[in-house]
Amino acid sequence: MTSTTAATPEVAPLQLFDLTVVRTKRLGPSILRITLGGPGSEGFRGGGRDQSLSLLLPRPGQRESVAPAGEAGSGRERWRALTEGERALLRSYAVRAERPRPDGSTEVDLDFVLHGDGGPASRWARKAAPGDRITVLGPAVADDTAVRFRPPADTDWVLIRADETALSAAAAVLEWLPAGLPARVWLEVPCTEDRQALNTAAKARIRWLVRSEGAACGVEAVRAAALPEGTPYAWIAGEASGVRALRHHLVQERGFAPERVTSTTYWTRGLSAEQARKAESEGVSAENGASEHREGVCPGQVAR
Ligand SMILES: Cc1cc2nc3c(=O)[nH]c(=O)nc-3n(C[C@H](O)[C@H](O)[C@H](O)COP(=O)(O)OP(=O)(O)OC[C@H]3O[C@@H](n4cnc5c(N)ncnc54)[C@H](O)[C@@H]3O)c2cc1C
Repeated sequence: MTSTTAATPEVAPLQLFDLTVVRTKRLGPSILRITLGGPGSEGFRGGGRDQSLSLLLPRPGQRESVAPAGEAGSGRERWRALTEGERALLRSYAVRAERPRPDGSTEVDLDFVLHGDGGPASRWARKAAPGDRITVLGPAVADDTAVRFRPPADTDWVLIRADETALSAAAAVLEWLPAGLPARVWLEVPCTEDRQALNTAAKARIRWLVRSEGAACGVEAVRAAALPEGTPYAWIAGEASGVRALRHHLVQERGFAPERVTSTTYWTRGLSAEQARKAESEGVSAENGASEHREGVCPGQVAR
């Protein structure tokens, strides 16, 4: 569900890795970091930026996920070959950081939004404890197709817009940006305490949009901004309706070239990842009455 016509590399297939939960750490009221690694993580190697992987999760009623054995080759093809309706559910997560270890293994940090809608990924994350095992479809080479942030060489400045699900991808992108590159960044989170310290050598102007503080989180925050001169590249990720609206604003109202806007739907209000994929493939607009502006609901706060 990414829209861009920017050049992508040769297809480097994702591979299956059987990983172990090493530790968990709460980053804020809405976000939990889970570090994976251990035996089986050897050979995991991502490309930074918005590199993502897929978790293989059990379906409701299954004790364990039905996953192909972790051999070399395209893990997705082997997952597809399993019986539909039985094979593991896939959920995408950004690789916030990866650290090679002296023993040859790799530690991988994933940041989970603990949303209250009880999907298999957020359910798994809530219960995750050191020693738990999980299979992932992950990168084995740095330049693979799950890296979408690809500013063309003539980019003068970058626009980044992310909600809480895309915060870890945006943070990794900021770490990757070259020193001095101007960047205008809008990051939306449910609660004040979900904000994070971010590292970047870019000349970034970062604005936090905190829903519980009543921030205007739709397209209006960007619409109101005076943007830098020069040739832009935009990266937008988050909930479907907001992604769609901002892409429309940038291309139709600001005159951004469509191929210079990478927009990715990370989740769709009211639809599970499977339902969203089905709606997308059937060309159905999955609005479900979702408004572009969302109220912030922090743990302990009652939705209005
Ligand atoms: C490339 C990519 C990278 C991603 N990276 C991350 C990441 O690093 N961290 C992260 O937290 N998410 C990330 N996401 C989003 C994540 O995959 C979705 O939120 C996913 O739907 C969660 O799966 P689930 O099983 O919990 O819920 P699902 O079974 O998919 O959905 C169940 C219900 O929960 C709702 N729902 C799903 N997500 C949310 C949410 N965040 N807030 C409120 N309601 C929700 C759905 O609308 C649905 O009604 C990424 C998505 C993509 C495509």
